[in-house]
Amino acid sequence: MSAYKCCYDRILPRDLLKPHTTGPGVGGRTRAIAPKGKSWMNGSTLKVRFMSGTPSQQAKAREQAAWWSAVANLQFDFGNAPEADIRISFDDNDGAWSTIGTDARSVPFNQATMNLGFLDGGTAAHEFGHAIGLAHEHASPAGGIQWNEAVVLKALAGPPNYWDADTTRHNVFFKYSMDQINGTAFDADSIMLYAFPAEWTLNGVATHANDVLSSLDKEFIAGAKMYPKSSPGLPEATPLSVGAPRLQANIGQAGEEDLYRFHADADGVYVIDTQGKTDIYMKLFGPTNATALIGEDDDSGYGLNPRISQSLLAGDYFVQVRHYDRSSGTGKYSIAVHKR
Ligand SMILES: [Zn+2]
Repeated sequence: MSAYKCCYDRILPRDLLKPHTTGPGVGGRTRAIAPKGKSWMNGSTLKVRFMSGTPSQQAKAREQAAWWSAVANLQFDFGNAPEADIRISFDDNDGAWSTIGTDARSVPFNQATMNLGFLDGGTAAHEFGHAIGLAHEHASPAGGIQWNEAVVLKALAGPPNYWDADTTRHNVFFKYSMDQINGTAFDADSIMLYAFPAEWTLNGVATHANDVLSSLDKEFIAGAKMYPKSSPGLPEATPLSVGAPRLQANIGQAGEEDLYRFHADADGVYVIDTQGKTDIYMKLFGPTNATALIGEDDDSGYGLNPRISQSLLAGDYFVQVRHYDRSSGTGKYSIAVHKR
């Protein structure tokens, strides 16, 4: 086989501009990789709309999406809602690609967040892996892949990809730093890995096409850092009262999330923040819609704490508090919401 079909992993420009510092790289068991801050809330139902496609193409997408929902605490609703979270086109001139996790919410509703230009093997499952927050396994800094750049650039400049050098650099050569991702070791069986031949690398690494989820893909997506079924997630989000004293909380496991909800009685500017030494990333969803991302912050508050100050309509809101980096430890933090 000479034609390697590769997937376009759509990374937001703002993420490419982040400095790639070298993190501590502490070892762990999980193998799939997820860029931090991209996950939906555990227990979410993601609405999906097909923008085109034949019944059999759409059926294949539904079938392979279900591989993930079978193991993760996430549901897909294929009701073709106009404001669906995931919008799929089947343009065979545009390859296969997807935005990663909640990045889909920054794409206008009249545009696709995923394209399935081909459906070979496990392509739809691979793209749904991106849609729920996974990145390419070969972008793991733990992979140790040394690309033979000239050979790869030449191969991907031809059919069926026709990528220019910048596109190949972005999709293939780009690696996350350890502090940008969850997951540490390299899984050669991951569905999130491209299939490529040994001559693409200088150190003899070759991969095979992975058309089903690996056991480590399943373990990672169902783990504490992603969507564990062992936690009810959203249905049991902890209620916060606007203006109430700070609520004391605790991060038990590295990477885990806590979910909160609050009701805004009136339109106005609301401030949600955390305090404490634990490094936290916060996202705000709503009103009413638990997948409608409207704000996110890493450390605008004191120390490593997030602070979101935002003008909100009256309604119900959801807050995802995700442990960010284990180098500053896990443990206690407090959270509060008040109206300014
Ligand atoms: Zn991909």
